[in-house]
Amino acid sequence: MSTIDLHMHSTESDGSLSPELLMERAARLGLKTVALTDHDTVSGLHRAAARAEGLGMEFIPGIEISTHFEPGTMHILGYFFDPEHPLLNEKLKDIQRARQERNPRIIEKLRAAGVDIDYEEVIRASGGGQVGRPHFAKVLVAKGVVRSSDEAFEKYLKKGAAAYVEKWRITPEEAVNFIAKAGGVASVAHPKLLELSGYDAIEELLTRLKEAGLGGLEVYHSSHHSAAAKNLRKIAERLDLVATGGSDYHGDSKKYAELGTLGAGKQLDYTVVEELRRRARGRKG
Ligand code: AMP
Ligand code: FE
Ligand code: FE
Ligand code: ZN
Repeated sequence: MSTIDLHMHSTESDGSLSPELLMERAARLGLKTVALTDHDTVSGLHRAAARAEGLGMEFIPGIEISTHFEPGTMHILGYFFDPEHPLLNEKLKDIQRARQERNPRIIEKLRAAGVDIDYEEVIRASGGGQVGRPHFAKVLVAKGVVRSSDEAFEKYLKKGAAAYVEKWRITPEEAVNFIAKAGGVASVAHPKLLELSGYDAIEELLTRLKEAGLGGLEVYHSSHHSAAAKNLRKIAERLDLVATGGSDYHGDSKKYAELGTLGAGKQLDYTVVEELRRRARGRKG
């Protein structure tokens, strides 16, 4: 187990533990340094930081931005930015507005497909944070419409399925840019989910994003086998990107990864944190 984990979610996005309970779990498992990286929001950072500090853990402000990308999914992680930064908050508002416009339309499509569901139920399932597709999945499971969250995505929620609604997403370059302007370092999350044809294609993409200010690559992730991590590490070295890592823990919402699980038994070295901090300082300087 790694005592450093730079990727996890709370109820402020699609995790199942509150920021406080998440930090308590991390401390109980023996973690020393953690970053909370909720999707498209910084709303959990204050609470998590306060609890982490009380528990004697080092806390790094983080975020994970969903960006516009084909063929797969591009999530951009940010670290050590100023959570109060005006530009960052303005951009997050745009992103959150797109989500609020999309969600009721998913309800309309589900109802058109014969599912009896109210948006209120989904809001309740979200636990007070922002509402995403995993919360729709949770309600569909609870109602017995489908047997599992996977089935909910397959039948209704994934791209091309019956209740899928496209939502506006920021470009990767813009996400990298506003994280950098807020004094942070951006890292491309779980690069396998980009669904590119191979490592050369990944490297080409990262080379372009580096020009936009990219500073890191998530080399270690609970879903990465050692061969993947090895290939990604080589790319990070060649492009001078910090090799970040995390479990992507979501609690019960996604059962596979425990906090501190970075894939292939990897333990993140503290030099990664130091390097992220150094590059973030460089930005502010
Ligand atoms: P949203 O940001 O509301 O569009 O929801 C995105 C989240 O839904 C991702 O972070 C994943 O946790 C989950 N998700 C997306 N696609 C799938 C899929 N095909 N199967 C299961 N979960 C998915
Ligand atoms: Fe998620
Ligand atoms: Fe992600
Ligand atoms: Zn994540």
